[in-house]
Amino acid sequence: MTDIHKILVANRGEIALRVMRSAREMGIRTVAVYSEADRLSPHVRFADEAYCVGPPPSSESYLNIERIIEAARRCGAQAIHPGYGFLSENEHFARRVVESGHIFIGPSAQSIGLMGNKLAAKKMAADHQVPLVPGTNDPVSDIATGQRIARKTGYPILLKAAAGGGGKGMRIVERGEDFPSQMERAVSEAASAFGDGSVFIEKYIGRPRHIEFQILGDMHGNIVHLFERECSVQRRHQKVIEEAPSSVLTPELRKEMGDAAVRVARACGYYGAGTVEFLLDENNRFYFLEMNTRLQVEHPVTEAITGLDLVKLQIEIAQGKPLSFRQDDLTLRGHAIEARVYAEDPFNNFLPNTGRLTTYRRPHGNGVRVDDGFEEGMEIPVYYDPLIAKLICHGATRQEAIARMIRAIDEYRISGVETTLGFCKFVMQHEAFVSGNFDTHFVEKHFLPASLPSNDRTEAMLAAVLAVTRVEEDAAAPGPIMISHGSPQQKWRRNRQTRD
Ligand code: ADP
Repeated sequence: MTDIHKILVANRGEIALRVMRSAREMGIRTVAVYSEADRLSPHVRFADEAYCVGPPPSSESYLNIERIIEAARRCGAQAIHPGYGFLSENEHFARRVVESGHIFIGPSAQSIGLMGNKLAAKKMAADHQVPLVPGTNDPVSDIATGQRIARKTGYPILLKAAAGGGGKGMRIVERGEDFPSQMERAVSEAASAFGDGSVFIEKYIGRPRHIEFQILGDMHGNIVHLFERECSVQRRHQKVIEEAPSSVLTPELRKEMGDAAVRVARACGYYGAGTVEFLLDENNRFYFLEMNTRLQVEHPVTEAITGLDLVKLQIEIAQGKPLSFRQDDLTLRGHAIEARVYAEDPFNNFLPNTGRLTTYRRPHGNGVRVDDGFEEGMEIPVYYDPLIAKLICHGATRQEAIARMIRAIDEYRISGVETTLGFCKFVMQHEAFVSGNFDTHFVEKHFLPASLPSNDRTEAMLAAVLAVTRVEEDAAAPGPIMISHGSPQQKWRRNRQTRD
């Protein structure tokens, strides 16, 4: 057991604050690093000490490994917590942290390396009887071989970058004749985005749900899962709303998938917190997607339903403490939903909409948690992910969690930038979400303004207004823009107008 007295958090915004809060509760001193753009950020003010690590672009600050390690050395921090994003899944960083005499609060560099390559991860999963999406688990380098595999797999297929992440580097190929051009593009995109042009082929699952399992392992070989999170409401293959538990898993399927997730973690000698992601098809067959070797953005929904503090557990594991519970000790408590509040314009294809938060008032009350990194009057910097906050609502039932989320969204006051709040309310009120009958295509299928191709905001707004007018005028004869359960778009639109 190594006692940790001081932790440097190599991150910014809400996650830096979230990590520091748990550390402080454990009597551990906290150190912030920041870029010149974040000089006045709440995470800098919250920390016991803070060090500037460079200019605003993350490549020169939050991704500057040597500057961060130098800050840890100067202030005498024993451990470094990477948060999520930035350096959290960088094998080289994890190794450098340890080499420089610090504790990395996360898994070993070796586990990160193994799981950082989707192909290596898939091979390992297959070796441990975890089902994979049909396709190939080897990189495809020439078009003729790729075409043969694609034909055998059956179109539509998905071309994926082996080193991909964040929903980037994926291309759907619908027909054989499109394969050569799409593969050329996929390879060049993968090479420029990830420095590795390897791509592979997966069957494109038509209507999947994204279901992931939270894993926790200690350094003594104990590994448990903390149930699942459903993250099927996505835009651009990236999550916007997450919930726990999933409304479609039976206890049997939960056990089967949870056991598979634990096998994946065990296979790579995992310790710390991690997430094993699966796709679930319409016939309730599940397939391994990848493992994320860090704390996930959506971890608070798991905290809500288990009553555990995942960051505290990460720190205890890094100190060498064994887990104090086993799988059978864990029970699900109620239902939790997280809405990601991004500074994005849902009317304009969810494009970032940074600016100044002229009004910023959080919701409060029973079962409501807000993890954020901003105060009223602050600018949302253009350099980083435009996440303003995560709004997490917990209730005894799914219905209660949804009602609470709607109430909390109504209470939230944000002006100065467009946000995803109104969109999240639209989802909460949509019949498909309420009934639990949805998949990863929720946004394209049900959210009209976002699917407009135009980048022109006025045009998009006009189209949305026209859509609402049609709904109002033609309530008796539903056209393609009608959705069941009244018209949430209409309510959303009204709500948005009164808010702005
Ligand atoms: P990333 O690492 O870039 O996040 P993932 O492999 O985790 O990529 O996939 C992200 C999302 O892309 C999934 O949640 C799902 O919506 C979609 N996706 C990935 N693979 C498939 C597939 N084979 N069929 C259909 N959708 C997929």
